[in-house]
Order: sequence, then C-alpha cells, then structure tokens
Amino acid sequence: MFRFTSIKDYHTALNAAHTTCTQAVKYYLDQITEHANFNAYLEVFSKEALSYAADLDTERKQGKSIGKLHGVVIGIKDVLSYKGHTVSAASKILENYTAVYTATAIQKLVDEGAIIIGRQNCDEFAMGSSNENSAYGPVKNAIDITKVPGGSSGGSAVSVQAGLSMISIGSDTGGSVRQPADFCGVVGLKPSYGRISRYGLIAYASSFDQIGIFSKTIEDAALVLEVMAGEDEFDSTVSSKPVPAYSKLIERKEIENTTSPKKIAYFKETLFHPGLDAEIKTQIEYYLKDLTAKGYIVEAIDFSLLSYVVPTYYVLTTAEASSNLSRYDGIKFGHRTKESITDLNDLYKKTRTEGFGEEVQRRILLGSFVLSAGYFDAYFTKAQQVRQKLVDLTNSVFSKYDLILSPTVPTTAFGLGENNHSATEMFLADIYTVYANLVGIPAISIPLFTHSNGMPFGLQVMSASFNEVGLLSFSKEQMNNKI
Ligand code: GLN
Repeated sequence: MFRFTSIKDYHTALNAAHTTCTQAVKYYLDQITEHANFNAYLEVFSKEALSYAADLDTERKQGKSIGKLHGVVIGIKDVLSYKGHTVSAASKILENYTAVYTATAIQKLVDEGAIIIGRQNCDEFAMGSSNENSAYGPVKNAIDITKVPGGSSGGSAVSVQAGLSMISIGSDTGGSVRQPADFCGVVGLKPSYGRISRYGLIAYASSFDQIGIFSKTIEDAALVLEVMAGEDEFDSTVSSKPVPAYSKLIERKEIENTTSPKKIAYFKETLFHPGLDAEIKTQIEYYLKDLTAKGYIVEAIDFSLLSYVVPTYYVLTTAEASSNLSRYDGIKFGHRTKESITDLNDLYKKTRTEGFGEEVQRRILLGSFVLSAGYFDAYFTKAQQVRQKLVDLTNSVFSKYDLILSPTVPTTAFGLGENNHSATEMFLADIYTVYANLVGIPAISIPLFTHSNGMPFGLQVMSASFNEVGLLSFSKEQMNNKI
C-alpha cells in the first residue's frame, strides 16, 4: 500500500522504483472517495491527475531530471484559479465560473511537477472560522466528525489531516490556514505579506490575503514555500527580495540553533484572555517554562492592544471585501438572477441576494457601512490608526526578540452548529491569528499538543517579516523534539 511521510522520502521511493506517481494518485483518489463524508473536496480532477502522473512516470524512467515537486499530490482551496477549472469560492454566485488563467503560485507548483488533484471546500469567499459558511455544506473534522475542521480553509486542512493529499494550498486573511491547521493537528504556514503572489487568488481583503501551506512536516512546507514564493509581474505587492532556499537553510540553521539560544517573547494578555481554554493555557505555560530550561530566553511583554485586534481586523477586512466583492454583479461574473427585473439596480439586488450567503452579505453590509461618508473617520480611519500602532509595536518587539509565541486558537475544535448563533463568538476564534495579518508578518501553527478532550491544538510561532528561515527552523526543532 502507498504510504506518505514526506516529499523527500517519496522522491527516494520514486527514484528507487519502489513506487510511481500513478500509484500515488490512485491511492489519493481512493482515499478521497472513501472519505467523501468529510466533504473536503468540491471537485476531483481524477482523469487529468492520472494522465499527468503517467507522463511524469515516463519522464522519470527516461532519466529526465525531476522537478522539486515531481509527482507531489496537492489539493487547492476553491479560491485559487486554475485555468479551465471551476473556481467558485464555495459560493453560489460563482457556481459555474471557469478560471480563465492560472494563479501564479499554482503555476509554479505545476512547473515543478506537482499534480493538482482537486479543489477543496472552504467558507464562502474565505469568510469564516468553521467551514460552515460554504454553499456546498460544511467540512467535517476527520478526528471527530461531529466537530468543525476550522475555517476558512477547512477542506484543505482535512485533506492533509486525513491523508487525502500530500499538501494543500489555502489562503489566510486572518487565520484561515493556521486556525484549521490547529483544529486538525497539521502544520499551517502563512508567509509574510508579499512573499507569494496573490495573482489568481480570489480577493477577500487584499491588504491581508496571503496564500498559505498545509503539510505534515516543516520540511515539506519549506520546500513548497520555496517553489511558490517570489516576484511576479502580475502582482505589484509581491516583494522583490530574493527567495532563500528554505528547504536547505533550515537544515543548516538547526545546527546553529543548538549553539545560539533564541530570544522569545510572548504577549502576556494572550495567556490571560478569559476566552482561553484553561488546559491550553496550562500546557502552553508548561511548554514555555520548558523552553527556558532548554536555554531559550523567554520573556512576557505587554500587548494592551489585544482587545482591539479583532474589531480592527473586521472593520478593515469588511471594508476591503465590500469593494472586492462589488464585481459579482450578475453582469461580469457567474450567477445572474432568473427572476423578472425592473432595472439594473433590481438585477444587482436580486442576483446578489440569491448568490451570496448570509455571512458574506453581513460583511458586505458592514464594510459598506464603515466606508460610508458619515462613518469613515469613526471606523475606517480609526482602524487604520490602530493598524499603524500594531506595526510600531511589532517593529519594537522584533528589535529585541527573534520570535513571538502564542496559542493559535483559544479553544480546540468546537461542535458543528455550536457557534452558529453568534457572529461575535465566532469572531473570537480569530483573536490570536489576525494580528499577523494586520502587520504582515509570517506565522505558523505547529501541532505540538493534545487536549484531554482528545483534540489536537497548536503553537503559533511568529517572526519578523521575511524571516521565514528563523520561523521554520525553530518550528522544525520543536516538531523534532516532540517526536
Ligand atoms: N476567520 C477569519 C474570518 O472569518 C479569517 C478568514 C481568513 O483568514 N480568510 O475572516
């Protein structure tokens, strides 16, 4: 039977002719069918995945050099454009929309030999924390199907968790990669803002959105990041900084780590937040003490702005969303109402009422409100000011410390339907994750812990912008220590 542990081991097995890409694809197709009840995939690209796998097998047997992601089976969140394939943002409004080009990040994966196996379920337009906002039904957590997988990239997290793909590609605007990674017990990486091109990623809030990676290991996340990162003429917000060879550097860094202890900060307020589960608190505190015992300098710092991060995030992201989503008007994209209409406004209204789900509508309304003439200064400008304060705080923290640690989410995965009654409770699930998006720093959730309720939870590691090498090497060390 096919077994996946890491890309490196998979490549060793391929080169030794112990397995083939075709075998791998067949295995994942079977797994996806067998676990269809998780609802992780909206569509599986069976035929083309098998045919691409056969091509790769032939090339390899002919002795051609293999790409960095040769035969790596990857699922993509349904917000990433892949030419000729449906991309719906898990929304009815884009139900039959076919991508007319391929997202740069996805193209780079394919150019290195990755096999895209299908598109994954998520919250509609990536808005949500539980995957219950998909127009195509919720995704189930594979550890306990009565629980949510987190969101918005729930399908992508479950795909890696349950072994339905080797890697998944998601998007993270306020935690949508890290939070489901935490709930599902896998690695979830959100790189620095501007590290990976957003060209071809359906926009939610453009100054926050980043493409992210789900994997079982840090080494695999590093390799996939290395492939996807870098300049792109189609996205002017991508950094022109050269892309480090992450996968190689984290090997070397590990040696340095043993001789140079890192300075680590944690925000006091995150551990004393009333919403934080008592056992998560205890386990993280114990873990921080253990780091000190291992020679790290671990210090608590003040984060009096903590209670502002969620409101600031929701003011700014809904404002950006109301503008980004105005293009779905029934004229240019996707669904158009079949009802009789009186004028253009009526067409917009009926189309958008039918096409968008409740949460998306709520956010468009909230965003339009905070941008409206009478309230702009009170909400939007204020939130921008808080964002600037957070950036200043971040710069000062990273002038003294290498990393910031926190829980990823205040609770473990909650039950399906449990948080549905209150949007504010749901928003609280984002309290530790939105900060990294507000200031653009990279952040990762690593699956270090298990709660006595049987569910996994993660440690969130954050570093200064573009210090993914530091972030990944520390994370790798922590994962190794766990094993
Ligand atoms: N849960 C957050 C929200 O609902 C994060 C979403 C995301 O990162 N795409 O906005």
